[in-house]
Amino acid sequence: MERCDFLVIGGGIAGLSCAARLAAHGRVVVLEAESAPGYHASGRSVAVAHFGLGERLVRTLTALSLPALAEHGTRHPALHIASSAQLEALDALEDTHRQFGCDYARISGAEARALLPVLKSEACAAALVDHGALKLDTHAMLQAHMAALRAAGSTVVTGARVSAIAHDGASWRVEASGETYAAPLLINAAGAWADDIARLAGVSLIGIEPRRRTVISFAALPDEDVREWPFTKTVGEGFYLLPEGAGQLLASSMDQTPSQPCDAAPEELDIAIAADRVEQATTLPIRRIAHSWAGLRSFAPDELPVIGHAAGAPGFVWVAGQGGAGFQTAPALSRIAESAVLGLPFPADCAAADLAPEQFAPARLGA
Ligand SMILES: Cc1cc2nc3c(=O)[nH]c(=O)nc-3n(C[C@H](O)[C@H](O)[C@H](O)COP(=O)(O)OP(=O)(O)OC[C@H]3O[C@@H](n4cnc5c(N)ncnc54)[C@H](O)[C@@H]3O)c2cc1C
Repeated sequence: MERCDFLVIGGGIAGLSCAARLAAHGRVVVLEAESAPGYHASGRSVAVAHFGLGERLVRTLTALSLPALAEHGTRHPALHIASSAQLEALDALEDTHRQFGCDYARISGAEARALLPVLKSEACAAALVDHGALKLDTHAMLQAHMAALRAAGSTVVTGARVSAIAHDGASWRVEASGETYAAPLLINAAGAWADDIARLAGVSLIGIEPRRRTVISFAALPDEDVREWPFTKTVGEGFYLLPEGAGQLLASSMDQTPSQPCDAAPEELDIAIAADRVEQATTLPIRRIAHSWAGLRSFAPDELPVIGHAAGAPGFVWVAGQGGAGFQTAPALSRIAESAVLGLPFPADCAAADLAPEQFAPARLGA
């Protein structure tokens, strides 16, 4: 049996960012079921940090994370477009950008078309351009956490699928692919499987809902270098579009279909809807989908992250429910997780931004 100070289940951005912090306080073992970290949601993100999604709490976490994200991100403008029916939503988003001190401008439809020349005029009456948005190198983020862990003498075990969890009165004992691990503190960062891990441990479930999102990739116009095109997103229902290299674009209809935890794959209908939304709003002809993928974004019932000790299960800590913002909030969330696991004071910058541990605690959801 391998003993350590902290066992982290899940080698995605949530588990690795938290584990890298805990490695400064003791030996961590991260157990990852797949043959490589980041195989599920964390390897399928479109890797943008912006203020166009989530509740105020998620945006606050994003603002607190931006300085650290800059290490693995490059500035890439986010263009939030609104049709004439979506102007109220654009006003609300402008308020958000103002409150968070973003480097943004409100622009006309014509100015938006200067940034994204393929945009049809009826698709954009007005827009916001956020010059502070970041394109993230998510692979580099995961690798940096792995390197920090290893440098501190901690380990990531891949191919370690947790199948049994029991508490022996002092430690959590975890069975994973024929090995047994034990630690007094067990961190549940299993993404879409977070409730399954709680069930194995006999801990009350949160009601984490995985939701499938589909991304398509297709060729841009011939001879057009699209690298400078902004990340473009409708303020309400619609689509997003972003460059993937010089001649390729990615798009999503921002689908969020409830799913069982699984190795998510794109469905034909979702691919077709994404392509149709792009063709409706732009002059881009999508002749062939070069490739597509889907991933699961996992949400608690109130769509906010869950960080904290489970009631009645000493040492079982939730780090789950990052939804569609797991990368852009990871620097702040991992510090909140570190303080929750160790019982340290809540991070001062988070408290100063009017966040409190109770907003993250599973107790708010009765768990
Ligand atoms: C299409 C798409 C686009 C996105 N775009 C963005 C974006 O632009 N910006 C952003 O910030 N976020 C984005 N996200 C969200 C982001 O990817 C997630 O919030 C984040 O990856 C969640 O990380 P995680 O570590 O919780 O989950 P995961 O990466 O899924 O990690 C959980 C891990 O737990 C492991 N596991 C599960 N069960 C077990 C078990 N029994 N034993 C051992 N290991 C187990 C899994 O194998 C998995 O590797 C996007 C997501 C998708 C799907």
